[in-house]
Amino acid sequence: MADPRSPSGADDPRRQLQRLARDLRLRLEGEGRAGLAAIGRARVPEMPASPAASAAGSDSAGAEAEEPASESEAEVRAAEAAKHALAERLAAAKSPAPSPAGTELAADRPGAGSGAAGAGPQERAPVVHVAGPQLFDLQSPDLGAGVSREEALARVAAEVAACPECPELVASRTKTVPGQGSPYAKLLFIGEGPGQDEDLQGLAFVGRAGQLLTKMIDSIGMTREEVFIANIVKCRPPGNRQPAPDEAARCRPFLMRQINILRPKIIVALGGVAAQNLLETHDGITRLRGRFYPFMGAKLMPTFHPAYVLRNYTPDVRKKVYDDLLKVKAELQA
Ligand code: URA
Repeated sequence: MADPRSPSGADDPRRQLQRLARDLRLRLEGEGRAGLAAIGRARVPEMPASPAASAAGSDSAGAEAEEPASESEAEVRAAEAAKHALAERLAAAKSPAPSPAGTELAADRPGAGSGAAGAGPQERAPVVHVAGPQLFDLQSPDLGAGVSREEALARVAAEVAACPECPELVASRTKTVPGQGSPYAKLLFIGEGPGQDEDLQGLAFVGRAGQLLTKMIDSIGMTREEVFIANIVKCRPPGNRQPAPDEAARCRPFLMRQINILRPKIIVALGGVAAQNLLETHDGITRLRGRFYPFMGAKLMPTFHPAYVLRNYTPDVRKKVYDDLLKVKAELQA
């Protein structure tokens, strides 16, 4: 009676796997899914060979027990490697890298705010860090007895003006740009950082992007004077580069104090840099935008940065921003 473990047995699992691999390859190629098959092949050289596969390939002395490495054996290894690589990719897509600290929240889950639009059913919901109400001071330390919001905001601005924290930005700045607007604003816009015009005037969003922001505010029946406009960093990064993570981190306390003083109902994060810094996520703005996230007692809506809209002035991009703003308007009126 044949030993079922024998390499020549009809039920040998290795042979079954070989047949399976061949079938799979033929099916993939037959269905014209050469791209998927190529991913598997391309990954093969990077994949460590499994101990069994290495033994099979190297131990030619045990020819009776082990077939010499053959094309079909290579297929098995390729199929296994491809399976492994695909499993890794699937796992990575399902569980993105966690943010450094705090509560993680997939924005589609209940309690993540309203307006869960934008993601299709099979699309992964953004995972963000939630700065919950526990971080929203009951009483802002800047609003001591008898201190008005105006005074508290002015104090933050004075500290920003004297801030020596980021040597490169301090050396090149003309004016600091703390942000401006109504101390009683229900709506707070947060951009990335001052550009040249803002650096010269000491005011946020006064250049071309600022003009478009004015139109965006106008489109929901509001004025700049009714809202507050600030940035992730308060000094211009040279050459309009993005603020470095350490610069954003050093500036963050100023912004947090402003939010605590203002206690806005809605925060609009303008662009990926603002949204990613506030929500402490690596997800891009395209994935993040269009829905609300709880943030320090407010609801945070990420949308495209006006400078991006200016560069991509298509009906589609403008509609997306307008849709986001309409949700903001509805939430403000709720
Ligand atoms: N872009 C920003 O992100 N902020 C400004 O203040 C101006 C342009």
